[in-house]
Amino acid sequence: MTENMRMDDRFGRKIEYMRISVTDRCNLRCRYCMPEGVPLSAMEELLTFEEIAETARIGASLGIRFIKLTGGEPLIRRGLPSLVRMLKETEGIEKVTLTTNGTLLEKHLDSLVRAGLDAVNISLDTMDPETYRQITGTDAYEAVLSAIDAATHAGLYTKVNAVSLAAGEEKEAWRDLAELTKDRPLCVRFIELMPIGCGRDFAGISHRELLGRMYETWPDLQADPFPHGFGPAVYYRIPGYRGSIGLISAIHGKFCDSCNRVRLTSKGFLKPCLCYADGADLREILRAPLSEEREELLRAKMRETIFDKPKAHCFEELPAVTERALMSTFGG
Ligand code: SAM
Ligand code: SF4
Repeated sequence: MTENMRMDDRFGRKIEYMRISVTDRCNLRCRYCMPEGVPLSAMEELLTFEEIAETARIGASLGIRFIKLTGGEPLIRRGLPSLVRMLKETEGIEKVTLTTNGTLLEKHLDSLVRAGLDAVNISLDTMDPETYRQITGTDAYEAVLSAIDAATHAGLYTKVNAVSLAAGEEKEAWRDLAELTKDRPLCVRFIELMPIGCGRDFAGISHRELLGRMYETWPDLQADPFPHGFGPAVYYRIPGYRGSIGLISAIHGKFCDSCNRVRLTSKGFLKPCLCYADGADLREILRAPLSEEREELLRAKMRETIFDKPKAHCFEELPAVTERALMSTFGG
């Protein structure tokens, strides 16, 4: 990468990762994310694949190298593998990865791999089918477990993402989830629940507490210095196990000083921080008639939004959190 393709924000953080939500729809109804009855966008409000690819191309000219496709559930967007291919063919984009609830993954796995997908994150909050049904409103547990194995067998770098919920059965879910790393070459990552959207109505486990309990359970737990991606997780390993365990501690291990990401919503709004509603409407520019000025305007808007990325989130001070949208509209 040449030096002029590096984009720092006003605090000197190098911004090289863009999460792109491709839809706000989902086939699950996770209680803390998208319960029944939430309003959905009309299809014509969503960016087209061409508009997403154009945004990624301009992003790449500003230093974006890594893209994560998210949603809603990205795999309910028809033809997603073709978007993966378009992004992989974009100059400057080095890695394209996907976060999915896993329910539709097996069906699309071959075409995603052929399109060049680099890695997949599969969300699974519990190893108990009944608790899974209570969290997601569906019986898709077996399909997700099967997708995890299919992804690793396909040679795709696989992470399992679990939100650390504090209620009843969910509070103990981490133990069985971590055991997935015993025989499988994957990372299980626990994510602290953030007070975004419906997440405000639930309690999460502090990762300080979780790490303490992990050490009680596996006293020889070791720090794993190997970098497992381009995100903020801190990794551990149980000796003798094939995989590793990551903690993403947005609340109790605030990592804003090293944040390297921005988010593009499915409606084309560029969000520099999860916590605030601020950002830039790129769709308005993307849908203006094609011209050199349009491209320059898009680049300038993206540069300005990235540069002005807030210093830190304020999740510890709830009234200051200005983002009111559901997590499913911008993809976590
Ligand atoms: N449907 C896909 C999935 O479940 O992976 C992609 C979108 S989903 C919004 C992305 C991730 O955000 C999931 O792992 C989900 O568990 C997580 N998530 C949703 N709401 C959250 C919250 N309030 N705090 C922390 N993580 C959350
Ligand atoms: Fe859907 Fe993912 Fe939200 Fe669950 S976490 S409702 S799977 S978008």
